[in-house]
This record gives sequence, C-alpha cells and structure tokens, in this order.
Amino acid sequence: MNKTAKYIFVTGGVTSSLGKGIISASLAKLLQGRGFSVTIQKLDPYINVDPGTLNPYEHGECYVTEDGAETDLDLGHYERFSNTPTSQANNVTTGRIYQNVISKERKGEYLGTTVQVIPHITDEIKRSVKLLGQTGQYDYVITEIGGTVGDIESFPFIETVRQMKWEMGSNCAVVHLTLVPFLKAAGELKTKPTQHSVKTLLEQGVQPDIIVCRTEKHLNEGIKRKIAQFCNVSTDAVIESIDAQTIYEVPLLMRDEKLDIALLNSTNTPIPAILDLVNWERFVNRLKNPKDEVTIGLVGKYVELKDAYKSINEGIIHGGVENESKVNVKLIHSELITDENVAKKLSDLDGILVAPGFGGRGIEGKIIAIRYVRENKIPFLGICLGMQCACIEFTRNVLGLKGAHSTEIDPKTPYPVIDLMEDQKKIKNMGGTMRLGAYNCKLDPESICYSEYQKEFISERHRHRFEFNNEYRDRFQENGMRLAGINPEKDLVEIIELKDHPWFIGVQFHPEYKSTVKEPHPLFVGFIRAALEHKHARELFQMAQ
Ligand code: GLN
Repeated sequence: MNKTAKYIFVTGGVTSSLGKGIISASLAKLLQGRGFSVTIQKLDPYINVDPGTLNPYEHGECYVTEDGAETDLDLGHYERFSNTPTSQANNVTTGRIYQNVISKERKGEYLGTTVQVIPHITDEIKRSVKLLGQTGQYDYVITEIGGTVGDIESFPFIETVRQMKWEMGSNCAVVHLTLVPFLKAAGELKTKPTQHSVKTLLEQGVQPDIIVCRTEKHLNEGIKRKIAQFCNVSTDAVIESIDAQTIYEVPLLMRDEKLDIALLNSTNTPIPAILDLVNWERFVNRLKNPKDEVTIGLVGKYVELKDAYKSINEGIIHGGVENESKVNVKLIHSELITDENVAKKLSDLDGILVAPGFGGRGIEGKIIAIRYVRENKIPFLGICLGMQCACIEFTRNVLGLKGAHSTEIDPKTPYPVIDLMEDQKKIKNMGGTMRLGAYNCKLDPESICYSEYQKEFISERHRHRFEFNNEYRDRFQENGMRLAGINPEKDLVEIIELKDHPWFIGVQFHPEYKSTVKEPHPLFVGFIRAALEHKHARELFQMAQ
C-alpha cells in the first residue's frame, strides 16, 4: 500500500462548539463509504503538551488511543465513526510543536539561524500533518484545527494551511464550518457572521473551498447563493448542516447535502459511483426506532458536565442499539448519595454504571451505591475508579475490613486493597506517565466476561496509576468475587465479577474507548442486555404482587 494522500483542513468560524469534530468524522465516513481510506487528526492550539493533565472542567473527557496518547475527545468521535484506530500522531498541540522545536534547537539542528514562528513552527506543524500522509496508508488526511479563526493562538496553524494550499494546489482543500443564526425578532437567518469569519480566513490568506453552515432552520437557495457570492465559492460548495436528533445522523445529512461530492470535486478526484452507507443507515434506523427502553444510572462527580463522560455515553448508546433499546441515562451525583437516600435514588434504575475518576471527592457515595447494587442484584458496570470502588466496598462490607481504601485517597489505610502500581512509585512527572494505552488481558472461561467477549484473550485501553493489590486475591476469591481477567505480563487483576449476582462487573480498563458504531463494545452490549432483563424481571414481579 503506497498511497499519495490528499489533505483536508477543517476550520471553524463565528463560535466554538459548532461540532467540527462531528463534521470531520462525518466527512471521513462519507469518503470511506466511497472506498477511500481516511484518517483524522486534531491540531489543538493550546500550550499544554497534551490534555492528560487537564481537569474535565477545562476540557471534558480525556480520550486514550491504542498507543497510549492522552488526547482530545474529538478523537473518540473519529474512531467511533470511522472504526479506524488513531494514535499519538493524530492529536498535536501547540505545546507539543514548541517542545519539538525547542528540543531540536537544543540539539543544534537549527545551528546558526534564529528560530522563528515562520518558518520553524509552521514547518514543524506541516511535518506533523504530513507524517500521517507519509505512512502511505491514506487517500485522505483530514486535519481539524481546534478553536475559531481569528484566535491569536491558532494563527500559526492557519498560516500552515495557507502554505500547504499554496504548495499542494488541488491536493489540499479547506472546509470552513460556520454558524448561520436564526434571529427570532427578525424572523430571518443571518449570513453576516459567516461572511465575517470567511473574511478573517481570507485576511490570513486562506480561501475556503467548502463552507458548512450550522443552522437551526433550512437554508433556502437564496441564502446559499448569497453566502457563495460573498465568500467566493460555488453554491454547490455551500453545505447546510441542520441540527440533528443525534450526531449519528450527521453523515447521512451530509450525504444528502453532497458534502463528499463537493470535496471530491475540489480535490480533483473522480467520484466513485457507489456510496456505501448501508450499515450506518441500519444503525441510525435502529437508534431512532427502539423496541424497548431502559434507564441506566451513571454515578459520577461531574454530572453537570456533558462532555466529562462522552465515550461512556456513546458506548451506552451503542449497547442500546445492539439490544434495540432506547437508553435513558440518569446522571447521579456521587457526592449526594448517602446510606439514607441510596434506595430512593437507585431502586428504580435498571442498571448502574460507576464512572472513572481521580481523587477522593464523591468516593463514599460511589461505594454506598455499589453496596446497594451488590445487595439488590442490580446490573453493575464499574469502570477504572468504579472498579476500584467495588473492590473497596467488597473489602469493607464482605471481608469485614473496616477502613479499607485505595492509597490514592487514604495513604494510611490499614487495608490498602487498591495501591500504587510498582512502576508508578518512582514517577515524579505527572504528564503522560500513567499506565496508558492497550494491554492484554486473559479471561477466565467460567466468567460472565468470557461469555460477553466470546474469547479468552482481549486487549483493552488503560489510564490509571493504582491497581488491585494482589495480597487480597485469595480472600476475594474465597468470598465470592471472581478475578475474571488477568494481565498475563504483569499478573495484574484487570476484571472482577461477583459470582452470586446476575451481572456485576468491574474493569480496570476503559471499554468505552473501543466502542464504535461498527463494533459496539461487548461489555456495553452485555450491560444493557442485563439491564433489560432486570427491568423485565422487576415488571413481572410487580405484576405478580
Ligand atoms: N484514580 C485511579 C487511578 O489512577 C483511577 C483512574 C481512572 O478512573 N481513570 O488508578
């Protein structure tokens, strides 16, 4: 395979949060549907080297790739849509660019020259973009530029786009995403913000090839013509992106608007006759026409933050579709759960997921919730910290060891059932030093997990510093907890499950990072199925009363 890649840049104007990530991922899906191979990259203009040390309040979820990069959550959308793994090279920040340039400067690679934004920083950005194309694997590299045009921070990135367009001609195209707001008082859609943001791009020397307009109402031909005229593009290159019921509908809406055709035309590529989105359409149909419904409680401490558990929410949706069920997710604030109110908060739910996290805030609420679902046999999925909390709860309430804890939260606990991993003990730097990325795991053939995955050897992605303390293994097994998955290389416990419970699973890894539309994760599929069974059993019981 030695393909020559074409480069597509996706920029944003007017405001942030327009959904550049979804548009990029949808475009990738359409190009894949036409038989092209595509990868998507995100350039983030902030100065952190990666988002790994950022608080979810700043940046939402931190997504983790197979090779252990801590990245922007848009990479999650890329993988969920394209079903192609991303890597370190798919998310590059200003901080990373400067770090590379400064380390080259220290090595003497620029000897004799003054190191400057242009050409040294822009050359480094160009190198990072072309790195993916040079693998020879892709027909298209789609690069989403974070932020909004006109931001001071994004200037070197936009300048790089200008240079690449100049160098590559029709092998490079720019898709600009803007907002066409509807002014209620005037009863009109307004094109002026789009005109201004395109002008900002033009001031930086970049003429967009395609303009995608986010809007609440349909754009008529007149509006499209107006935008085309003001922004030097043909009307076919003005694409409406109307608010959708679900993000998974966007590729279909973009197909109807012929975004792929506009793009192929602007990169001088013959248009393949077939656009195959059959499986995608099937998924969207099932999503929109569920036959059943369940309610899952998501227990975490970031309930007010929509993006903090992004991949988990998507994994739940995938699991729902596979079971032809709608899934309502009820966010439950772990800080507010007490022994007194736990039954009231959880008894009506069909399944409980306890979220990952760091630090002690809200942890007692998580432990109380887990005790309740263990004793009341409600389906449970604990992810990372959620699994660790299940171990703490079991140690305290089944093994009877009061004060058991994770040393992350209580370093002096007499029963450290969760403890710092051996290789973590000497680590001082916090950035990029957790146990990150894909690790192997061997499943116990007797386990529920084995029947969910239907195989013995799996690989899952991690992001943590603490682990199950092997000194507690025997006591766990003797008292009803199955150590269902073990990492063979380091002999780490990766999965626990209760034997005397219909579906109680805690995983040290993050299944949510690997769930895609094409391959919904077996644990989410199994969890939703167990929740449906729990709901039906409860309904039968209530009817019999
Ligand atoms: N804070 C825990 C650890 O570092 C769990 C991390 C997580 O939930 N991702 O081990």
